[in-house]
Amino acid sequence: MKKVILLLVDSLMPGVLEDCMQQRTVPALQFLVDRGRYWSNCITSFPTMTASVDSSLVTGVYPDVHRVPGLIWFDPGEKEIINYVNGWKCVRKLGLSNCTKNVLYNLNEKHLSKQVSTIFEELAMRGRTSGSINAMVHRGVKKHRVRLPFLLNLSTRFRFQENISGPDIMTLGAMVQTDLQEIPKQIQGFKQLYGINDNYAISAVKSLIRSGNIPEFLLVYLPDNDHRVHKKNPNHAEESLIQVDKCIQQILNTFSSWDEALSQFIFIVTSDHGQTRIGNGKEFNIDLDSLLDHFKVLQLGEDVKDHDIVVCNNERMAYIYTLKPEMEEQILRRLLSESRIDIIATKENGGIRVKEGGSGREVYFKQNGQYRDIYGSTWIINGEWEVLDLRLNDGLVDYGDYPDALSRLYGAMYSQEIPVIVVTTRPRYEFKSRFYPVHLDGGSHGSLHKYDSTIPLIITGTEHRIKEPPRLIDLKHFIINIFESSPK
Ligand SMILES: [Zn+2]
Repeated sequence: MKKVILLLVDSLMPGVLEDCMQQRTVPALQFLVDRGRYWSNCITSFPTMTASVDSSLVTGVYPDVHRVPGLIWFDPGEKEIINYVNGWKCVRKLGLSNCTKNVLYNLNEKHLSKQVSTIFEELAMRGRTSGSINAMVHRGVKKHRVRLPFLLNLSTRFRFQENISGPDIMTLGAMVQTDLQEIPKQIQGFKQLYGINDNYAISAVKSLIRSGNIPEFLLVYLPDNDHRVHKKNPNHAEESLIQVDKCIQQILNTFSSWDEALSQFIFIVTSDHGQTRIGNGKEFNIDLDSLLDHFKVLQLGEDVKDHDIVVCNNERMAYIYTLKPEMEEQILRRLLSESRIDIIATKENGGIRVKEGGSGREVYFKQNGQYRDIYGSTWIINGEWEVLDLRLNDGLVDYGDYPDALSRLYGAMYSQEIPVIVVTTRPRYEFKSRFYPVHLDGGSHGSLHKYDSTIPLIITGTEHRIKEPPRLIDLKHFIINIFESSPK
């Protein structure tokens, strides 16, 4: 049977892809769309940040089940802010050892719930081989040795006593690599993020194809587009996608023809999230430190003492943890006074109350009620549906500006058992906190809004049915199903 290659292109957006296809600048992506199926309305997980999204991709569930709340979140057990590396300023503040330990070890071995299985674990159970090239979430049944590059090793006190788990074939740039040849040293250095880049990933894929060692399922993470779109902004993202397309061309060129590639492989191309264009001017950054300056906010790198709240900034979304429950009302009032904040959500009786920044309009929802949504979940919904742009369509709850809002918001807020407030910014805005990167006149993501949440999906080389409208969490099941319905 055919093998499956899943290309996960960071910050790939349907609008940009379609513009490029119209201008005929992305021949490889165009080829895959022409020979296969394309959806412009696939919906990713929330918060729209790589760590929580990738966890959803490989486990097929939202964060309430897989338990990775976001890129940045607060761990009440360890009393510390968990950061899977978001910019060097944060790293400097928290220390490389802390960040390295979280992203290389804790994310997969500790934070990702043991109650769920990853696609790699499930394929192994079925006797299928799998691989992960540079993906952040890779838990599997095999153990791999971590080799920290010299510089990283010098600056980190953390020593890997244990190996980390992954599928049969795994790379994390120069830090973990199984039996790969031909990867040039110059794309694995400090400036190249130790090999967490597109060139490295493509070299690894080509090497696996040429050697014949490519596993039956291979997940390939291509991060460069994200960095470029953050700088340029989503309205100028075509050139970046043209570069991504060149990478995909290199994979297809490894075969005698592009059609030959499709006779051997099923290709799936998707993204982890989109991005929103951020305005050019300080007012487009909502400074959470000054908005919440009445309270004692736990900052990165500090120990919890008599702090009131912890703010975990995920760009266009933030988790605000109230360490003193009696202060919640006061904090909410402060947040509500800010009209650049889009939604303010709190947990209430197993459900969620969502208020709109500025107006204070609100809606409440809870699982298992009389309303069924287009994805098949049922809900109790009370209040003003406009707050989440919900509407009834042929008797089903349908979504407007906030795709799959009910399940996704529930997923984020119930990823932890403790009280938490979730806030998102209106389009054009992002949150600012000390030590975190901002992107004025560039691109940013994290929110529930469709700009950050809608991703393209291309499936080529199989007619196998996928649940529609498609969601990123359906891909795991879809891929396992392909293998189950084909003889070995
Ligand atoms: Zn990003």
